[in-house]
Parts: sequence; structure tokens; C-alpha cells
Amino acid sequence: SKVPSITLNNGVEMPQLGFGVWQVPDDEAAKAVATAIESGYRSIDTAAIYENETGTGKAVAGSGVAREELFITTKLWNSEQGYDATLRAFDASLDKLGLDYVDLYLIHWPVPAKDAYVDTFRAFEKIYEEGRAKAIGVSNFQPEHLKRLLGETSVVPAVNQIELHPQLAQAESRALHAQHSIATEAWSPLGQGRGLLEVPTVVAIARKHDRTPAQVVLRWHIQLGNVVIPKSVTPSRIQENIDVFGFELDADDLAALAALDEGKRLGPNPAEFNLGA
Ligand code: NAD
Repeated sequence: SKVPSITLNNGVEMPQLGFGVWQVPDDEAAKAVATAIESGYRSIDTAAIYENETGTGKAVAGSGVAREELFITTKLWNSEQGYDATLRAFDASLDKLGLDYVDLYLIHWPVPAKDAYVDTFRAFEKIYEEGRAKAIGVSNFQPEHLKRLLGETSVVPAVNQIELHPQLAQAESRALHAQHSIATEAWSPLGQGRGLLEVPTVVAIARKHDRTPAQVVLRWHIQLGNVVIPKSVTPSRIQENIDVFGFELDADDLAALAALDEGKRLGPNPAEFNLGA
């Protein structure tokens, strides 16, 4: 079944489920992205720091799918924040991807110690005005970072991509995003396959629906309205992870999954993550 799209706050359509390529080496990324596109994925999430924009671009070029049917996201790395450095880094990313525009460009982390995300976003606004990114947004912005950005720049970010899964449900961020029509995109949506997929509640709901734990977790995100970008390099799992549009979790399932929220972070706390500052 086909992946539905959500409409971003600037009218751009974004597939609600895409394919993430963090930690996938460039050559392998080319293969994995090709498999994902063959399996029906149309949205790909990469980043300059993943060092696989080249492989991603090769897979896109060789896919036989029209560019306008694909949704390509990349991200600006921390060390390149600042107005001029951002413009240069964006050119380098486009070059590696072999594209003349991306669908979504994100500031990867706020990097509070650098205090440059406002200027960085002003460069994003220029890129957006030029049509070289169809939408611009942020990643790992906590409410305080987002509120400052909203107060000091003119384009409202289309997306905030944050760590989010049933054990870190991010209620405060989701509510703030909803207030400003910012789409919530979940990174590590499966909890990196570390433990979450073995939690008895998840396993029991999977049995009940004759689905896998990964499918139950992805379905939870979809029903919450999140954009998700699960990662796998295993073809059978790549297919399994997109096959989540033919069943529905009921109110009991959603309540049981809501009870798993324990504020469990797998990644760094964005307020303290200053790598590349
Ligand atoms: P994920 O939650 O998608 O988990 C991926 C892991 O789960 C796989 O490596 C595999 O071990 C396991 N898995 C995948 N499918 C499975 C299945 N069907 N059954 C059982 N196990 C399965 O974790 P992720 O890769 O960290 O996150 C997804 C994407 O989010 C990344 O690839 C990247 O694009 C993005 N991301 C962004 C940031 C950021 O700072 N913006 C940080 C981390 C990840």
C-alpha cells in the first residue's frame, strides 16, 4: 500500500514514511537506497556528516523514478554553521547528491555553545527563496531553541526532526510544533532496534495484529501524525518497515504504548551536544 503524504506549512507534500541512512557507508548506502526506492520508498533522509550523500545521489539517479516524485532531505553539519559557511556547505551537499535542489534542508543540531543557529537559518532562508531547498527546517531543536528561532527569523521551519519513539514520546515538543504547524519527524523511530522491539507490550500488540514489533512501532508513529524514517540495510526489513498502512492500532494499543514513555534518550541531549562547535 502507498505511503500517504503530509502537507508541510508551506504547502509542500512530504511522504509520512521515508528511509534513513545514518551509519551506512557510502557504497552500501547506494545499494540500500536503491532497494528502498524499489520497495516503494520515495523519501530519503541523509546528512553531510553521514558521508553518504554521494551514494544516495547515485541511487537516486539510477532509480528510474522521476526527481519530482522523490523527496530528498539532507542536513547541515555543526562545524559549518554560520551564514557564509552554510551557503558553501549547501553547495557541497548538492554537488555530492548530484541534484539541483533538495526537498528539505535541516540544521542538524542547535549547537548552543556556538550560538550560530539564527544566522545559519538566515542562510537557509536565502537558499529557500532561491528554490534550491523546497522546504527548510531544523533537527534536535528543543522548545527554547525553536522559540528563539521563531522570534528572530521570518520563515517558520517546516519540520523539526527529533529523537522520538514510544520510550521518548516528546509530548512538549510535539505540542509546540502543533501550535506552529511544524511537522514532527521522528529519528531513531524504532529505538535503534535496541530493546524497544523486545518490550513485552510491543510484542503482545504485534501478536494481536499478526504484525512484527517494528511494524507496530512504526504504525504508532503514523497514527500520532509523525513523519518516520526507519533505517535498515536488510532488504526484507526495508520491505517490512514500509508495510504499515494495512492495519490500525486501537485505543487500547495506543494507551498501552503511551505508558512506555519514560523519557529514555538513546542519543545526546541537544542542549549539551556541541560537537563541531
Ligand atoms: P532506527 O530506530 O531506525 O533503528 C534502526 C535499527 O533498527 C537498524 O539498524 C536495525 O538494527 C533495527 N531494525 C530496523 N528495522 C528492523 C525490523 N524491521 N526488525 C527488527 N529490527 C529492525 O534508528 P536510526 O537509524 O538511528 O534512525 C533512523 C534514521 O533517523 C537514521 O538513519 C537517520 O536518517 C535519522 N537520524 C537522525 C538523527 C539526527 O540527529 N537528526 C540522529 C539519528 C538518526
